[in-house]
Amino acid sequence: MKKESRVRCAECQHGPQERVCTAPGGKPGKGCPTLTKKKLIRKANEEYRKKPVAEFARQTAVQEGECYAGRGKGPYAMHPVKPRVLEIMEFAKKMGYKRLGLVFCVGLAKEAAIVNELLENHGFETTSIACKVGGIPKEEIGIKDEEKIFVGQHDSMCNPILQAMVVNDAKTDFNIVLGLCVGHDSLFFKYADAPTTVLAVKDRVTGHNPLAAIYTSGNFYAWLSK
Ligand code: SF4
Repeated sequence: MKKESRVRCAECQHGPQERVCTAPGGKPGKGCPTLTKKKLIRKANEEYRKKPVAEFARQTAVQEGECYAGRGKGPYAMHPVKPRVLEIMEFAKKMGYKRLGLVFCVGLAKEAAIVNELLENHGFETTSIACKVGGIPKEEIGIKDEEKIFVGQHDSMCNPILQAMVVNDAKTDFNIVLGLCVGHDSLFFKYADAPTTVLAVKDRVTGHNPLAAIYTSGNFYAWLSK
């Protein structure tokens, strides 16, 4: 697809609160989809009216608003007050979800134990499932010895398809992904029956904060763009 015909919101030249997509009468970016994608806008709106999407979408927006303090009082300055883990639990309660899948990377086993306890303390029933479930050697998916993390040894493959099958089998209402690798998360999303959110993504060198490399891309991580 030619660059001119691609949607390029990431290159929008206007401030976040000056754009036509955030403020009525605001400014459009180049090839702005708010102005050019009317048919798709209507199509998406139709989806939001369907059950059970309608209630899911409504509750996500209610939850989003509740993540800020002091709304409705002037002069208003955005004041976020809830960490994501709380946001997830509150949203799950709003939706009436009881059974949660906690789908984690074994490298975050300690964090998973804490999150699991937190979820159970809040009355959820959890099915927690680690990435290496099944203990299948990586050779099963065609990995050569030199491609393993543990060269010359047994190296269990991450098994996001089995993780999905286990939570599907438990008939979870909602799943929470904690630290799955790039691509393993994609496979989990593809195979999971219940809707899924992400508590944290894996970033091995930034304490699972991938934006650290973006925030420092002007200096310490400048080499990334070379
Ligand atoms: S929708 Fe339009 S105004 Fe909003 S970010 Fe994209 S290009 Fe900019």
